[in-house]
Amino acid sequence: MNLLRACIVGSGPAGFYTAKKLMKSYPKVKVDMFESLPVPFGLVRYGVAPDHQKVINVENTFREIALDKRFSFYGNVTIGNNIYKNNIANYISIDELKKMYHTIVFCIGANGDKKLNIPGENLNNVYTSRNFINWYNGLPVGLMNNKSFSFDNKEDIKSIKNVCIIGQGNVALDCARMLISPTNLLNSTDITDNSLNILKQLDLKKINIIGRRGPFQAQFSVGEVREIFKLNTSNIIINQNDLIANNEHIEYERRIKRLMKVFNDYSKNTDTNNYNNKTDLELCFFKRPVEILPCNNDKDKVGYLKLEKMALCDTKNIIATGEYETISCDLLISSVGYKVNSIDGLPKIIKDNCIPNDNSKIIFTDVNEQGNHFNNGLYACGWFRRGPSGVILTNIEEANLTVNRILNDIDNGIIDLTLNINYQNDKHV
Ligand code: NAP
Repeated sequence: MNLLRACIVGSGPAGFYTAKKLMKSYPKVKVDMFESLPVPFGLVRYGVAPDHQKVINVENTFREIALDKRFSFYGNVTIGNNIYKNNIANYISIDELKKMYHTIVFCIGANGDKKLNIPGENLNNVYTSRNFINWYNGLPVGLMNNKSFSFDNKEDIKSIKNVCIIGQGNVALDCARMLISPTNLLNSTDITDNSLNILKQLDLKKINIIGRRGPFQAQFSVGEVREIFKLNTSNIIINQNDLIANNEHIEYERRIKRLMKVFNDYSKNTDTNNYNNKTDLELCFFKRPVEILPCNNDKDKVGYLKLEKMALCDTKNIIATGEYETISCDLLISSVGYKVNSIDGLPKIIKDNCIPNDNSKIIFTDVNEQGNHFNNGLYACGWFRRGPSGVILTNIEEANLTVNRILNDIDNGIIDLTLNINYQNDKHV
């Protein structure tokens, strides 16, 4: 058996599961993992909500993988991003990397944010979910690739009464849950002291989680919705007409039926006319954000959100009604999904969503000597391969597929392990 020198770029779940499967399936392998951050675990360390400790525990599996003698981790190394070429010491281009490894698997996730593309997105106190999540998970400010979440002072924190979260996926629920979780529950989590201290000072009146489509087109998982409702720290508000409007359409799959039951069970129990100390948590359906407006006494800071009412025209598509409303908004978190960015040396991303690939093998525009569009030895796994969807465990299956594809290419001589490669990464790191 010839030695396989494999390189994995990115140290999140897809990277570690790829390493695990490679070492299991091809014993004579050396795996080098490169990561642009100084520390490993990517999304698990800086993306998963700190109160989801069971999910974070997957780090123990990753640590075991890292203890394998055939595995090395190199943090603080940037791959293929030419803007860093002359600026940082630990930079390696993809061309250089290709000379050093038989195969490279890119597991670099989705490090961009989809934009709302509406006026006012640059106002103060308007953030993306990534800004907020990186903040409560303690990503050092210097390493954040865009605006860092912050409150200027204590008065600023106290003045936040109305929060609007745009988007109705699980990330939106994570953000809302962090805002309304009892802080004594968060005490025992990995949340940073600074973030916890700030969350403790919040005195929120209302959180709106806003979706342009209906309750049953929402991307929420049932368990995640139940989790936030069960916290019992908020008055759950759902317009019953939205449930009825949506219900007129079609036969729904099992997830949707369960979601409907949770919406019904919890929203019926809420009497919002009764005064209590709880924050109102409204799931606002059929509303499209059209403009973010400044507050009355500070033109640079968000104060209102203008929404347009939408209506379903079939089971999933919506049309604008031309009816508008404007609601108060002191903090806006846009949670409308992530965007996959390519790096220099790899093809362009398809519709912001994933690297072009054929079952993990990266497809280039140019035709190679064999008359196909591959650059043999280059693969993708995780969000970079399939787009930003699915849970952490989805990466296990995908890593298996990716590694099987690599092994297949070795068996068929497409990856030639007898070729002399110029292994010299000690030079770089
Ligand atoms: P997502 O599930 O794709 O949800 C994005 C939401 O944003 C959708 O409601 C979408 O509505 C809305 N949206 C997109 N563009 C919009 C626009 N221009 N205006 C208004 N709304 C817009 O993405 P995500 O919440 O970022 O989650 C990413 C993945 O991570 C998902 O697979 C998720 O399940 C997973 N995740 C899982 C967990 C967990 O299991 N605990 C936690 C966090 C994340 P439309 O549907 O109308 O486009």
